[in-house]
Amino acid sequence: MELTINHLYKIYDNGHQALRDINLTIGEGMFGLLGPNGAGKSTLMRILVTLQAASSGEVMVDGYSLSKHRKEIRQMIGYLPQDFRFFPKLKSWEFLDYAASLAGLKNKKERRAEVDRLLHQVGLIHVRDRFANKLSGGMKRRLGIAQALIGNPRLIIVDEPTTGLDPEERIRFRNILSHLSNNGVIIILSTHIVADISSTCRSMALLDEGEVHYQGSPDEFVNRA
Ligand code: ADP
Ligand code: ADP
Repeated sequence: MELTINHLYKIYDNGHQALRDINLTIGEGMFGLLGPNGAGKSTLMRILVTLQAASSGEVMVDGYSLSKHRKEIRQMIGYLPQDFRFFPKLKSWEFLDYAASLAGLKNKKERRAEVDRLLHQVGLIHVRDRFANKLSGGMKRRLGIAQALIGNPRLIIVDEPTTGLDPEERIRFRNILSHLSNNGVIIILSTHIVADISSTCRSMALLDEGEVHYQGSPDEFVNRA
């Protein structure tokens, strides 16, 4: 699977230019999008998951163009938004069950098997009956990842998943992403923390004020200054 971004621009209605001539190729493994607040990371990710339209430019996923095959591409990609929230009255398993039914899994038994598989995958099977909004910050993010994995997408996009986590939870979260990546899931991770990327990603880009300022290996990036 390959995702290519060509000459992508985003200008918001108020005239703010959030992305300027973005060109990136993202292949197998884990890709890190590093950038400070306001760099344009969320904008780029929302465009990739078809929640927002670009002003110009093109994105291709496995030969499908985003402008012509919005629906197909949306189905190929799992997404964990930065501000992901849970319904207060649902237990962990109920939340995933609900998300799976929205995703089209109609059969109750199949859904149950899928939900338990996902809970195992992110290390939350032991809290399956706990209310989702009562989980720790790190567990909530992991439940968010489980949600993004419904339907076995080959690519998942995770927006600032480690923000607000303490160091231990951050490392645990990185390990889950690495494990998924080793099992063939392509991951695009946005973060403003260099260590999130240097310890896990094979390639990266630095985004600042809507422009790509570096593209290459995290090792090279860390050692270049
Ligand atoms: P990041 O995720 O890197 O913090 P964002 O993509 O959220 O960056 O934002 C990039 C820039 O675009 C910021 O300056 C932000 O204020 C601006 N922006 C984001 N959403 C909108 C919007 N709906 N209208 C106008 N400007 C926006
Ligand atoms: P918002 O603009 O507040 O994110 P939307 O109605 O645009 O609200 O989207 C609602 C939610 O649907 C998103 O927050 C996200 O969880 C989910 N969603 C949207 N697109 C995708 C996608 N391609 N893959 C997975 N989940 C998605």
